[in-house]
Amino acid sequence: MRTSNGIWKYKELLPVDARYSARMHEGGTPLIKAERLGKKLGFSKLYLKDETRNPSASFKDRSMSVGTAKALEMGMRRVVTASSGNAAASLAAYSAKLGFECEAFVPEDISEAKLAQLCIFGARVRRVAQANSGMDPAVKYMLNKVKRNKQIYPCPSFGPFNPYQVEGPKTISFEIIEQMNWQVPDLIFAPTGSGCLLTGLFKGLSDFMNLGFISSYPRLVATQPKGNQALVQAIVSGTRFEEIQPEKHPKSIASGLLDPYPWDGDSAIKGVRTTHGYGVAIQERKIIEAVRLLASNEGVFAEPSGAIGLAAARQMLEEGLIKRDEFVVVLVTGSGLKAIDAITAI
Ligand SMILES: *Cc1c(COP(=O)(O)O)cnc(C)c1O
Repeated sequence: MRTSNGIWKYKELLPVDARYSARMHEGGTPLIKAERLGKKLGFSKLYLKDETRNPSASFKDRSMSVGTAKALEMGMRRVVTASSGNAAASLAAYSAKLGFECEAFVPEDISEAKLAQLCIFGARVRRVAQANSGMDPAVKYMLNKVKRNKQIYPCPSFGPFNPYQVEGPKTISFEIIEQMNWQVPDLIFAPTGSGCLLTGLFKGLSDFMNLGFISSYPRLVATQPKGNQALVQAIVSGTRFEEIQPEKHPKSIASGLLDPYPWDGDSAIKGVRTTHGYGVAIQERKIIEAVRLLASNEGVFAEPSGAIGLAAARQMLEEGLIKRDEFVVVLVTGSGLKAIDAITAI
């Protein structure tokens, strides 16, 4: 296997010339069998896809590696993003490597560690006050920027402003299937904010399906905190994407999942429905327990946003929605070292 190439192992399936990529060993993360944790919670086949090991310590490096390569291919060297922290920190790292100019609109209350990453990588940081309107003001600033200057490449980790951003995360699906020796797991649990990660997972599975590499889908599970669950609500109640009301007061310790509006909700919902998946909303207390369970049983230190998938798997098992012997993959999307302030406060 060409695993040392990380996501670029799959360059034939990525929509950019791989020569433009800044190789920082993004992707190629381990799929860890969680023996102790599985036994404790009652799963016989529980696996963790450990995305904390990416260069800037979250899965966003997959998106930003593809995003910056695309910018370079198009001859652009100035990038702008809007992010709660991880996407911006990642874009800043890739920008440093490529000599890009990077501007990041982030929330006022961004975690210290994510802010430190941004500053040390040399991004121009713009801290933006949150409006209680359901519209993320950081996104507005980003869009204004690219409207005024066509030489600036929009590189958020989601959405309708840049169609290439789902391409990086889709390599997570490729890797899981390969690491399981071309077997398809029964379920994949994804922490969900904008829905880009879920969309990417589904896109990766669809690519493999179209190539004839797999013949069934795992059920995809969207997981959000109770304090910001517009997308999960739409999945559970069968609402159409167009009818989704953004959350006016998003609130959770899982600060990476607080997008008030799920920009990629249309394609994320399609992914969940096509795979007969679910949407699950999690209480704060359960998110914190999941951080502790991952750390104390498996030695994996996740930030709250990165641990929420485990809480969802646990909840669905308790509710009898999944069986003990099903093949369960939980994505652990970001490192606990990024959220020391939140974690030491609990
Ligand atoms: C961005 C992020 C997510 C959510 O991804 P979306 O594509 O916005 O749904 C999950 N976990 C972590 C750690 C993140 O940074």
